[in-house]
Amino acid sequence: MPIRLHNSLTRSLTELTPRTPNRVTMYHCGPTVYSSPHIGNFRSFLFADVLRRFIEDQGFQVTQVMNVTDVGHLTLDDIEGGEDKMEVASRKAGKTAWQIAKLYEDEFHDCQRQVFVRTPHHMPRATEFIAQMGTIIDDLLQKGVAYQTNGNVYFEVAKFPQYGKLSGKVLDELESGARVAVNDEKKDPRDFALWKTDSLHQMQWEAPFRGGARGFPGWHIECSAMSMHYLGPQIDIHTGGEDNMFPHHECEIAQTEAHTGLPFVGIWMHARHLLVDGTKMSKRLGNFFTVGDILAKGYSGLELRYTLIRVQYRQTLNFTLKGLDEARAAIGRVQQARQRLVRVGGGQERAGDDDLTAAVATAQAVFTAAMQDDLNVSEALAAVFEFVNVVNKASMSVVGAKNGLVAFARFEDVLACFGGEPKGDATSEAPAELVALLAQRKACKQAKDWAGADRIRDQVAAAGWKIVDAQGGARLEKA
Ligand SMILES: [Zn+2]
Repeated sequence: MPIRLHNSLTRSLTELTPRTPNRVTMYHCGPTVYSSPHIGNFRSFLFADVLRRFIEDQGFQVTQVMNVTDVGHLTLDDIEGGEDKMEVASRKAGKTAWQIAKLYEDEFHDCQRQVFVRTPHHMPRATEFIAQMGTIIDDLLQKGVAYQTNGNVYFEVAKFPQYGKLSGKVLDELESGARVAVNDEKKDPRDFALWKTDSLHQMQWEAPFRGGARGFPGWHIECSAMSMHYLGPQIDIHTGGEDNMFPHHECEIAQTEAHTGLPFVGIWMHARHLLVDGTKMSKRLGNFFTVGDILAKGYSGLELRYTLIRVQYRQTLNFTLKGLDEARAAIGRVQQARQRLVRVGGGQERAGDDDLTAAVATAQAVFTAAMQDDLNVSEALAAVFEFVNVVNKASMSVVGAKNGLVAFARFEDVLACFGGEPKGDATSEAPAELVALLAQRKACKQAKDWAGADRIRDQVAAAGWKIVDAQGGARLEKA
């Protein structure tokens, strides 16, 4: 069975057939680093992470790029109005825009680690790709699909008749839209900025294209330049939140395809927004949570991750604190079942004769089919919990226990929301008696038996291994 993903461009399920066999290129619109990342942002980033993990699980080699927007994202980006978000944050905090960018980029990376995101292969900053943006702008000016007025450069939407093909917004509808900003400089209110001049803007550069003025880039051109730099003119998958579809992705398509003459993206994917307690998350309603807010309430990154990925990405997710409590209980059930497998596998619990072959095969097959079906994480989780029920009741053999651990390791490798050791971790290759010692040590620590825990650490060391304490739980590594 192939992986089938919902393509926002064709509004249909599309089989993933990468341009280069067995290699998948993915670009994700990353954070704008002007404030602490909120859980809505992270629903989208975690969707991208699960997507990558599953595609890798299916044997593809993935190259993943997620940008950091640190300049040019306006407060009213849908109508090209307002001020650069970095400038606003800078003024409020009494720091420079560069300091703000560094502060929140660091926090973003920290949040990614807290919720076990596999680090993308490239995480470029927009401010470091000004020259590449200039190359595209220069070409668009030469081709006559962009024009310059008072130093500002605009993309001329009328020159790209396919504009609107992603979002379905037709030109007339856009033209008559009441929210289109009044800007006398533009030939057409729908034209969007590629380069802007503003003598007060803190982040500015000499024009990276011929005949231009000092200024800073528009938000959309950043993603075109960075994806092209790392992944070439055509990419397999591009993701973002549903709010990115228009105008951001629509503009990315226009300027990239006008520049290269080639279809830009194979499959466009958009994660839906989440609701909090049944309504849109907003600071005004007091239901606004950053990742840090949730961790400060005593929930773990694992629990947050579970909560944010458990509903398929195109479905509405209603985030509640009760949902985090349910996540804690669900993770606990999986870990208990795993621990039983560790005990039977390590001889601490009497073994039976079920080798779990049939149950493992069923669980794996149902899990895979669910994920192949447009990343249906809820169905995949149902397969995991069905397997948990089997493990809890089974009278399994030592081999059965080890088979069961292999299945759990794979589920963890793809979803990374249960804790324990993912596939490929050295722990899965460690002798069973050491794996059992690891479980015993955890019990010691829970019982605050520090001497016992230290003794086990020494025993493991004597066998040539070491225990590494990590956020997902302790693991074994060869010393
Ligand atoms: Zn983008």
